[in-house]
Parts: sequence; structure tokens; C-alpha cells
Amino acid sequence: MAAESEKPQGLSPTDPCSYSRPDECVVTQIDLDLDVDFKTSTLKGQVHLTLKKKKEGIDHVLLDTREVTVKKVTDQANGQELSFTLGEHDSNFGSKLDVRLPSTAERSCVVSVEYETSPQCSALQWLRKEQTAGKRQPYLFSQCQAIHCRSMIPCQDTPAVKCAYSAKISAPREVTVLMSALRLGSDPHPTDSSKLIHKFEQKVPIASYLIAIVSGDIESRDIGPRSKVWSEKEMVDMAAFEFEETEHMLISAEALMGPYVWGQYDLLVLPPSFPYGGMENPCLTFVTPTLLAGDKSLANVVAHEIAHSWTGNLVTNSNFEHFWLNEGHTVFVERKIAGRLHGGEPMRHFTGIGGWKSLQYGVVDVLKNGPYTKLIPDLCGVDPDDAFSVVPYEKGFALLMYLEKLVGGPEVFEPFLRAYIERFQGDSIVTDQWKEFLFSYFKDKVDSGVFDEVEWDKWFFGQGMPPVKPDYDNSLAVPCADLCQRWVKATEDDYSLFKAEDMTALSTAQKREFLSLLLLEEPFSAEKIQAMESVYNLNAVKNSEIRFSWLRMCIRAQCEDCIPRALEFVTEQGRMKFVRPIYRDLYNWEKSRQRAIDNLQANREQMHNTTAKLVATKDLHLKN
Ligand SMILES: [Zn+2]
Repeated sequence: MAAESEKPQGLSPTDPCSYSRPDECVVTQIDLDLDVDFKTSTLKGQVHLTLKKKKEGIDHVLLDTREVTVKKVTDQANGQELSFTLGEHDSNFGSKLDVRLPSTAERSCVVSVEYETSPQCSALQWLRKEQTAGKRQPYLFSQCQAIHCRSMIPCQDTPAVKCAYSAKISAPREVTVLMSALRLGSDPHPTDSSKLIHKFEQKVPIASYLIAIVSGDIESRDIGPRSKVWSEKEMVDMAAFEFEETEHMLISAEALMGPYVWGQYDLLVLPPSFPYGGMENPCLTFVTPTLLAGDKSLANVVAHEIAHSWTGNLVTNSNFEHFWLNEGHTVFVERKIAGRLHGGEPMRHFTGIGGWKSLQYGVVDVLKNGPYTKLIPDLCGVDPDDAFSVVPYEKGFALLMYLEKLVGGPEVFEPFLRAYIERFQGDSIVTDQWKEFLFSYFKDKVDSGVFDEVEWDKWFFGQGMPPVKPDYDNSLAVPCADLCQRWVKATEDDYSLFKAEDMTALSTAQKREFLSLLLLEEPFSAEKIQAMESVYNLNAVKNSEIRFSWLRMCIRAQCEDCIPRALEFVTEQGRMKFVRPIYRDLYNWEKSRQRAIDNLQANREQMHNTTAKLVATKDLHLKN
């Protein structure tokens, strides 16, 4: 278990997951000059790091790396080589790169690191052309959050450090290259006519985990005045339809949070192995193709990623123990945006109720009320990927929902959110700074004792469910709960009373809620599942969320015919939110256990590194 591993020596005093010491010497600008080599599955070239000394007498800088080959480090001013040492490899945090600064350096200098990534680079997934939809060109994409940027770029891989970046990326002419930055066009390669050099610039200072790259046979459609959607040709029109509301979401988010400062807001639909629902890479949100439901019913993920343009990307957690500052606020804003577009306050509360359910499942069933159920967990010696869960999202949301009511409702709380962004934009902060600002903003309420009832310690450091459940308007949830209870109580004689209309009367969001309520009940019998299937035809549903919950119901009911369908679902896409619980369920049932293990082994090569590692070690309890 991760909690038993000892803290490696020399980690940063302010970030338990980084070797860097930005309090001594800090990176203020990153300039990349890299070549995408699909033959060797590596990025190679140079990173130029502009450094600023923060203290007198500092003669070295500490960088994070993971499995990169460092060839040479030079002083950009005069090309002279600088000595460096690469520390021992730690499986959670990689290796410390210690670079001696030029002796002539005054307050600032630029060091150039010549390096090459490893084919196993944890930030990058290299797909052979056969693994893409079009099968025409190979494909590369990155996922740097939480601490994978160090495997792609030697850097200070802590969200406490923010800097602007630019990039020149050479790649074969046949592929498009995009980054989490504005596109500045491309030039011919000076020596290799088969390549182009693509140029990018991100002027807004960002944390390293937001640096992102994609390269593949992709094209775009315009979906708004500042937005394009990018994907392989096979999916691009469907994606343009699915994300048609993007500009409305942006306008609604700006009304809440202030101006959108990043210029472009594009979406990239990735290949199926992308491990997350979405990733808020600036200027270019990455999303899973499992959102392509054909009816825009899953586009709320885009509202979430848009919200990150303020909470997360402008105001950033200083280390991943305070991840809830990013995710709790973002879920809170996401639900405000989604409610403003469709369904208003009842819909916002309804999605909040769904969130509470998933928090309950995560806290009680998955994390067994353990240490990672704290809103602020202790990550000493822990890879944040291992601690990742629904907790920062939904416990964070619940806290904000509770506080909103306490201070007097949305009209009072929304201006606070905006003021919070204005106060901290460009900064990386910890929870104490958030709380201090809350108290100063609502000083009158502090004085009148409004916050006296808040059990801050329990909210921040308590294990298990939050001390208070916020009040939710449950008008939209009642029909879901009623239908759920009818099924729970039904005996064989009652099955004929159910009608297809029970389901068609519900919105897609309500259908999801109905199924997640059923999942909280005792498992059904296989016969009851069969009865549900014959009246609702759930096996045929394409919506990934509904398919996911329904498959879980079937596995829990031990319906043998669902095993192949479940294995197909976890193989055709790699979104961890779906893949991991299904693998866990299959593991927990003796009849499917070995088949799940065999399926993972057979498909591991095609999977994303992070997904494969977590499924193998955490869900199927294999050695590696
Ligand atoms: Zn998020």
C-alpha cells in the first residue's frame, strides 16, 4: 500500500510530490524545441528554462524528471556546459535533476537541457496507426496531471510554480500538432523536407501539469467565434454537433466568473484510450470520445472544463493535497453553468444530489472511509494518481453548496466566487488562503456568528462523509427514487406492471440517477435484471454513463451473459471512471475474476499507462 512507503529524501517542503525548490530558484519561462519521433516513440530536443534566483548564494537549481535521458545542460548565454547530477529513480516521483548554475549568473539566467523522453514516458501515449479510428497515421497525446509533466519535460513539476511557455515542435508533414497554447502557424523544417515546425505560445502563466501536446491525423470544425473542435475525421462532425453549445457555456461562465483570458477555447476529442472524461488544458480542452452520445446529454463535461479556465487554471492549488480548490470549485461552477443553460436551480440541485450519491459510493464502498476520504489528504510519499478519487470533487462541492446556503444563497455567494478569482488569479494557493479570504470577504457574517456552526476541521481533515449534508431541492429526483423503489419492492408477479414509458418519461439525467440509485440497493436477482431488460431494452443503450451503470447492475446480479459485454466495454474505451469500477466488479465475482485478469493482460499493450497500472495493481490486485 502506498501509505507505507517512506518519503524519499529531499522533496520540496511545500509540495510533497516535487523535488523542486522554487523558494530558492524558480523557473519563470519555458521554451521548448522538440522533435516528435514516431519511430522511436520519443520526444527529443531541448527545453530552455529561464530561472530567477530567490535567495543570495544559490548556485544550483533542482528539477523534476522521470525516465528522461539528459544529454547535456548548457548556459544559453555562452553555450558553456553546466555540470548536473541525476538522482536515484523513485517509482512515485522520478529523479531529481540537480543543475549547477553558471557562475556568472546574477539574478537570472537561461539553462538549456538537451534530453530525450523514454518510450515508456508516463505523460505520453503513442498509438500505432492501427490503433486510431482512421488507421492512416500514428497518434501521440499527453496527460500531465498530476505529476507526469516531469516525464515529458525536465521542469519544476509543482503547481506552486507558474510560467508562460512557447514551443517549436517538429513533426512529420502528415500529422497536425496542437498544444495547450495559441497556434502561431508552421514553418518548413530547415534540413528535413518531410517535416514541419509548428509554433505555439501560451502567454498566461500556467502550472506544468497544464502543458499538453497532441499530434495525429486530426482536423477541425468551427463551433463558435473562438472555438473549434478537433478530432480524427471519422468523429469530427459528430463532435461538432455534440459540443454545439460551447459558446453559450463560455458566455454563461464569463457572466459568473469574469472575462475568459485565454483567447481561444478549442476542444479535442481523443482516441478511446484517453483515461479521463476531460482535461482542462488551456486553449484546448481534451475530452474522451465516450461523451459522443448523439444527443448532447453528456456535454456537461465541457461545462466542467470551461469552468477550469478560472478555477484551476487561473487560481491553482499549490500542491495536490489542496486539489479540492481546483475540483470542488470547478464542479460548483460547472453545475451553475449547466443549470443556467438547462433546467435552472432544480437541475443544479438534482445534479448535486447525484454528486452526493457518487461521493457516498466513493467514500464508503471504494475508499472504506479511509485516509483518502479527507478533503485535504496527506500525500507524503504518495503518487497523487493513487489518491485520486471523487472526494475533492464532491466533498468540495458539498462544502461550497453548504456555505452558499449559509451566507444567504447564490446572489450573495456568486459575487464571492468572482472576487476570489480576482484576488488570486495568477497565484497558486492552499486552503488556508481560501478560508482567510472567505472570512475577510464575509467579515460581517463572521462577526454576526454565521460561520460558528461550520465544523471546519471535520470538513477539511475528517475521514468519511461530510459533517453536514447540504439541503437539496429534490423535485427532479423524486420520480427516479419512486421508480427505483418500485423495482426494489417488486416480486415476480409485479414485473408485468412495468412499462417502457416508465423510462421514456425520464430525462437522460434522470435515467442516470435512477440507475445510480439502484446501484446503492442490494444486488437484484438475475431474473429481475432480465425483467428490466425486457421492458426497458437497456442492453441496447449507447449513452456511456447509462451503459456503465447498467453493466454494473448486471454484474452485481451475476448475469453471466453480461460478462462479454462488460469486457467489451472496458476494452473499447479507457476512461478510468468506467474501466476501473467495472474491473473491480468483475474481480469481486469469482466467475468473472480470471476472465477480467486475462482480458487486461491481453489488452494491456493498447491501454494508457496510467489506466493499465492502476487497474492491474489497485483493482485486480496483481503485482504490477
Ligand atoms: Zn476537473
